[in-house]
Amino acid sequence: MTAAAKWETVIGLETHVQLATVSKMFCGCSTAFGAPPNTNVCPVCLGLPGALPVPNEQALKLAARAALALGCTVHARSVFARKNYFYPDLPKGYQISQFEQPLATGGALEFLSAERGPVKVSIHRLHVEEDAGKSLHDRIPRATAVDLNRTGVPLIEIVTGPDLRSPQEARDYLRTLKQVLEYVQVSDCDMEKGSLRVDANVSVRRAGETELGTKVEVKNINSFAYVEKALALARDRQIAELEAGGTVAQETLLYDAKSHAVRSQRAKEESHDYRYFPDP
Ligand code: ADP
Ligand code: MG
Ligand code: ZN
Repeated sequence: MTAAAKWETVIGLETHVQLATVSKMFCGCSTAFGAPPNTNVCPVCLGLPGALPVPNEQALKLAARAALALGCTVHARSVFARKNYFYPDLPKGYQISQFEQPLATGGALEFLSAERGPVKVSIHRLHVEEDAGKSLHDRIPRATAVDLNRTGVPLIEIVTGPDLRSPQEARDYLRTLKQVLEYVQVSDCDMEKGSLRVDANVSVRRAGETELGTKVEVKNINSFAYVEKALALARDRQIAELEAGGTVAQETLLYDAKSHAVRSQRAKEESHDYRYFPDP
């Protein structure tokens, strides 16, 4: 048997999609792409004390529409939560997201797998959140600049079950997801503008094994071709490690498109404790 036939690959994707609104999730600032840095900002999205966030009705309608297009149950009551972490592009010190009570759960999306024919991928959850800002490393020598125009832009996150079985299936699922979201006019899904971003989780297990293996998460992927490449790299690393008698460490990898390599994010950055609690 070849190495590939001895191992089954298991993949689940978390996809962030920017909703096609003219204004941000909790304030009236424009979502227009390409404006001069830090011009589409206000006390709410800058997180100034005393600012009052007000949810964007159109964003919630688009999120519900996406959920229905993916066969999810849209819950009558869902709750925004604060996801606390420290990062220069996050002025409030927390992101408004959803955690325990997401907007929608329990959907599915069917796509055509080259290997398995029609496959139904389960959609575990679809929740609404705001985007963070952007750190720019190429504007000022030896310094990082921060552009907060994206801060507060409405996103949905679409989380699949661990139902995909190859990097190519991941790519084919994403292509179908993009088609559906474009068709229902929820997002322009323009990857070059960052409207669709993917975090890809992958594990391997011996053929016939029913329990899931330890997963690694590959972040920082902004093209479907790179999703396929990064997942193949991460999978091959795991198989090599296991065949050498080792174990897979649960970790976050970053994909570098220039060198087509994955590298481990430092362990310190991984140990997240987001201290979620409901946002009033
Ligand atoms: P975390 O709490 O680490 O974010 P989740 O349970 O929320 O993990 O799952 C995140 C994504 O990872 C989902 O898309 C899920 O299907 C996928 N996933 C979870 N476990 C595995 C695994 N063992 N192998 C591959 N994908 C997995
Ligand atoms: Mg997760
Ligand atoms: Zn604003």
